[in-house]
Amino acid sequence: MASIFTKIISGKIPCYKVAENDDFFAFLDINPNAKGHTLVVPKKEVNRLFDLDEDTYSKLMEFSRKIAIALEKVVPCERIGMSVIGLEVPHVHVHLIPLNAMEDIQFKKKVSLAPEEFGKIAKLISEAL
Ligand code: AMP
Repeated sequence: MASIFTKIISGKIPCYKVAENDDFFAFLDINPNAKGHTLVVPKKEVNRLFDLDEDTYSKLMEFSRKIAIALEKVVPCERIGMSVIGLEVPHVHVHLIPLNAMEDIQFKKKVSLAPEEFGKIAKLISEAL
């Protein structure tokens, strides 16, 4: 069965899209640790990060870097943190999270954003690429 992220990539489930190329798709996390929390996903559905082939793995990091640089231009923060977990969604994804304190990366502190705020921040990141 297709993962929820495959359904997002194919447009069957809505998302706040940030960027896309032939191989990767970036969109806002719906339950963000911080404003601008973005997920970067390979279109190829693979469960575990280190099972990706070397080329996809390297390109995922390259694409994530571009998104992180744009994100940092748009969301004031100390730095962008990167995390790969995958315990909830078994489809590789990189979390890019604006950080000001250690707790921002801990997936305990969550922020709630209105739909308009999600839309606005996704557009700003996209325009900063
Ligand atoms: P994990 O697999 O543990 O890395 O966590 C999966 C992440 O995906 C969580 O941070 C969720 O908030 C996020 N997530 C799950 N469903 C969606 C969705 N439909 N749109 C955006 N983010 C999602």
